[in-house]
Amino acid sequence: MKTGVQEICNYLKKLDSGLRRNDGNRTRGTFYESITFGFCHLKFDSQLKRKLMATQPSNNPYRQIKSTTAYRRLMTAYYFMVKHPSWFGKKVAWITSGGPVEHLYAMGVLPFYPENYGAMCGAFRVSPSLCEAAEHKGYSHDLCSYALTDIGSSFTGKGPLGKLPRPDFLVCGNNICGTVIKWYEIQARAFNVPVFFFDTPFIYDEFHQHTKDYVQNQMNEYISFLEKQMKRPFSETRFREVCVRSFETITLWKEILAMPRHHPAPLAAFDAFIHMAPIVTLRGTTWAVRYYKKLKRELEERVKKGVGAFAREEIRLIWDNIPIWYDIRNLSKILSSQGAVLVADTYTSAWAMDQVDLNQPLMDGLARAYATIHLNRGLDYKVQKMASLIETYGADGFIMHANRSCKPYSLGQLDLKREVTRLTGKPGLMIEADHTDSRSYAPKQVEKQIELFLEIVRTKK
Ligand code: SF4
Repeated sequence: MKTGVQEICNYLKKLDSGLRRNDGNRTRGTFYESITFGFCHLKFDSQLKRKLMATQPSNNPYRQIKSTTAYRRLMTAYYFMVKHPSWFGKKVAWITSGGPVEHLYAMGVLPFYPENYGAMCGAFRVSPSLCEAAEHKGYSHDLCSYALTDIGSSFTGKGPLGKLPRPDFLVCGNNICGTVIKWYEIQARAFNVPVFFFDTPFIYDEFHQHTKDYVQNQMNEYISFLEKQMKRPFSETRFREVCVRSFETITLWKEILAMPRHHPAPLAAFDAFIHMAPIVTLRGTTWAVRYYKKLKRELEERVKKGVGAFAREEIRLIWDNIPIWYDIRNLSKILSSQGAVLVADTYTSAWAMDQVDLNQPLMDGLARAYATIHLNRGLDYKVQKMASLIETYGADGFIMHANRSCKPYSLGQLDLKREVTRLTGKPGLMIEADHTDSRSYAPKQVEKQIELFLEIVRTKK
């Protein structure tokens, strides 16, 4: 990506003011605004911002991260490029969140993540109508709501981005779940484009040599697929450059996620949920490296001055599962009003993959990194991970989101909860919701559960 973030954003702002002059409509929000994803910058944001400010608990104010402005610019530029690939002479590949993206950037292909877009639809609270559109076409309500949102959005052309960018091809990795296989098959048929399946066997216990060999072969097939699509050879030199940037981004992201080990935590998990977008979508680019360096500097400054994400931090908690995107702000408010802060989570840390040794063959390291991500591991691994998060972040308890439509994340959560409490002695709470579809969510009930749970945590402290 040679075009700078600032350059694209300046261009967009100019385009916006031109459009405003032309239609004279200043109340609709702008394209620049509408493609920006962030808490305080939703469509019609000034109105919403006022509402959100009104819901801030006065007894424990939230401290806005300043780098959020740069984050908005970055994601605006990214979505603008993905929406207009031909303007930049690029092809677009839709890819699953756990798919190997370094190969795409090395081939000059722009990745578009339907799951990341699903999260955006969830935060914009448009998922239920998009899910319904997919259900009217015959897709089951029980399917993953990211999948339903994406399918509904493709049918209707609706959503925060409007019509989604047409893929030139699809890349589907089943290291997160099996749902994506059928979902990508459907989209490949709908758009009449090829799909590459990156198959990673589930890791029940250890990562065996035969699994590594198998996944490595998949990587080689992936490269052949890309060469065929792009009609040019794969450049090892370019690939190495992208991988270096990718590993640098991963390292920065890990360091950022490690900051809340400090007391008070300079970053809450709710912030990490928002600022994770570049690690997912822009891993391997200089844009992501620059952005995370900036964010890290700001957080280091907070640590030095002893400034927390919230003014008051009395209870520290860990979050398990995907965020409840449409209620994230309200949940943050409920917790912080009682002095509780989410200091770590199992979701954003899924992109803090193991470091790959650049002196070893790259495909080797990548095969391991992509096959061993959180969702592709057995229960024992998840128990150890949760217990270790509780210990390293000094948490007093944990909240688990029993996610109605994400089965791989939610199956086994009862066992996980029991085991983690047995190992750490810390209480856990399970709340029922869905990551983007709010139709079966009972916010008042969840609020009551959280209040009672925090009482228990206080008595155990
Ligand atoms: S089922 Fe879960 S892991 Fe699979 S795509 Fe949906 S949210 Fe992601």
